[in-house]
Amino acid sequence: MRIILLGPPGSGKGTQASLLEEKFGFPKIATGDLLRDAVRRKTPLGLRVKEIMERGELVSDELVGQLIKEKISQAECQSGYILDGFPRNLNQVKYLEMIDGHRKEIVIDLEVEEEEIIKRLSSRRVCPKCQEVYNLILKPPTVNGKCDICQTDLVTRDDDQPEVIKKRLRVYRQETQPLIDYYQRKGNYKRIKGSGRIEDVFKKITNWLSPYISNSRPRAGR
Ligand code: AMP
Repeated sequence: MRIILLGPPGSGKGTQASLLEEKFGFPKIATGDLLRDAVRRKTPLGLRVKEIMERGELVSDELVGQLIKEKISQAECQSGYILDGFPRNLNQVKYLEMIDGHRKEIVIDLEVEEEEIIKRLSSRRVCPKCQEVYNLILKPPTVNGKCDICQTDLVTRDDDQPEVIKKRLRVYRQETQPLIDYYQRKGNYKRIKGSGRIEDVFKKITNWLSPYISNSRPRAGR
């Protein structure tokens, strides 16, 4: 089983992927998180991708392809995994199908209006220490500006600056939206409204997914 979360930046893919991981036990693989981690640790990969990410552009297919291949070949991904932020163009779709093509696959596309997305991304804050993600509107921290978990001062992601947000949305429309057509034709695609409360969106997703997952879950969920 493979669950692919599609949707523009800020549509809630990361949040929903974490909830799905907790409920169904499949590990979440978020290429954006993996790349940000490499940037933070100043690894050779991190140094190569830092500026590209700050500009809101896509990192090369080759680099993200390598990351994905390493991850999905790990034992914990054997019975399934959740993809957040990959694939992001048709080339990446083809690559995924080449390296792990026989797996049952479900694509969930989170649909959120662009105006709402800009509002969400501008109000996203992250903890630079433990990486917990907040949203001043949807999921505010208990104490203003501080992480609930480690009390570190929250920051805005470099690529959540207004100009970069616009660029990322442009890149999404050009590169990733064509995937919708592809998966729609493949017949494994479900569009779900991503606006509203996190719990309500999650309920819609799990209602739809549960029948497909009952046979392939790796361990008992919540
Ligand atoms: P995200 O956290 O998914 O919004 O990703 C943040 C940034 O990481 C993107 O704007 C890209 O620069 C890079 N990135 C993440 N996933 C991919 C991918 N599948 N292909 C290319 N670049 C990616």
